[in-house]
Amino acid sequence: MKKIRTRFAPSPTGYLHIGSLRTALFNYLFAKQNNGEFILRIEDTDQQRLVEGAADALLETLESLGLRPDGKIEHQSNRLALYEKAANKLISKGLAYPCFCSSERLDRLRQEQQANKQVPKYDGHCRHLSKDEVAQRLKSVGDKHVVRFKIPKDQIVQAKDIVYGKISVKTEDLDDFVLIKTDNYPTYHLANIVDDYTMGISHVIRGEEWLPSLPKHILLYQALGYPLPEFVHLPLLLNPDKSKLSKRQGDVAVEDFIKKGYLPEALLNYVALLGWNPGTDQELFLINQLIEQFSLEKINKAGAVFDVNKLNWFNAEYIRRIISEAGERYQQLIKQSQGYLQGHEDGAEDALKLFGSRINHLSEISELSAFLFKLPAYTADMLVFKKSDSEKTDQGLNLSLGSLAKLNDKDWTLENLNQTLEDIAGKHGLTPGDIFWPVRVALSGQEKSPSPSEILEVLGKEESLNRIKLALNKLK
Ligand code: GLU
Repeated sequence: MKKIRTRFAPSPTGYLHIGSLRTALFNYLFAKQNNGEFILRIEDTDQQRLVEGAADALLETLESLGLRPDGKIEHQSNRLALYEKAANKLISKGLAYPCFCSSERLDRLRQEQQANKQVPKYDGHCRHLSKDEVAQRLKSVGDKHVVRFKIPKDQIVQAKDIVYGKISVKTEDLDDFVLIKTDNYPTYHLANIVDDYTMGISHVIRGEEWLPSLPKHILLYQALGYPLPEFVHLPLLLNPDKSKLSKRQGDVAVEDFIKKGYLPEALLNYVALLGWNPGTDQELFLINQLIEQFSLEKINKAGAVFDVNKLNWFNAEYIRRIISEAGERYQQLIKQSQGYLQGHEDGAEDALKLFGSRINHLSEISELSAFLFKLPAYTADMLVFKKSDSEKTDQGLNLSLGSLAKLNDKDWTLENLNQTLEDIAGKHGLTPGDIFWPVRVALSGQEKSPSPSEILEVLGKEESLNRIKLALNKLK
């Protein structure tokens, strides 16, 4: 069997879009599942759109998610000679031609066609220039030209896509597209096909937005005498309202999700399910399970909704699991959490203990846990529950202080703490509102927070008692 080789071929124009992550992931999964290779190719032939540093950032992001490319990372800008050679080969076979049309002429043509309600298309003006004429114009200084592909007349191009099935297009609907631009750089179409062939790519897996280019590509493969790879186009990603997924960076940049503390496990798991499903009820998949179970045949045609709430669910789920497993991954999570707790790194484990099961992403712990490190200012009336009064509140706090002071450090456990507060209520005919509420506010300075026993456990005896004494002072 032929070696499976896939490629992720981004243009380095900025951040990594969540849709591109899906493309990269599916390429990775399919390659790994087949003991194949997953190649990263930087498609940097559009000199105007290049963003400095974007290619390195992209690689870093992929690697931080564990999607490490195999072999050397290729940049198309280093391979210009190869594309030129291919274009020349096509010219010499009469399958491509230099075109000298000025951009003004092309603009005019487009406007005319649009005014006549025609689909804009190159009119073949330079397609029939004689050899002599071409030679003459190539010599004349300043006569800029492009190289165009000569779309054959009156044919039907047949294509097969593993997801979308058979496609056929009449060549009269195709344009003599550009292969080499005036700056001598190849277009995406030429460079992409030359590279997929020379790099031995067996499966081209990419976004649905490239499907309309497929007939052109097939013609180009045929003209160059290259065998066809398999094609797999991935369904469009949609917003929850079914519109095309936004390009607003804040909503879709993988780097931003990582910065906010979304875990690789959650990002990969959720993204894998955008357009693919295992055909079972299983929702949670670690990368090795994805590699095992992924299949091209189970990719859907229908657009897939990217819903950040679902991603949150996966992320929260992985955070909870990692905490409860308390293994090596948990240690990494603590480390990562420290990044959100500047100046209070020591408190990372406490913060995770308290909020790990309550957050969608790690960066949330910084605000949530701030009260652990510094008691916020609050007013005395916050201590009084709406169905209580200041007298009972004072009594509740005093009794709590007394009982908690008697607990020694080794008994300072969640269960004992909870029991201690409950016992007070039982013994003195007080309600939870007279005890649990004020103790909680005393410890957190907040209307909303985890339960008092959870906070007591994390704050420890000394700090807890100090905070309760402070609250009693406020009530005076
Ligand atoms: N450079 C193209 C992109 O940015 C690659 C498309 C393809 O995979 O063929 O999406």
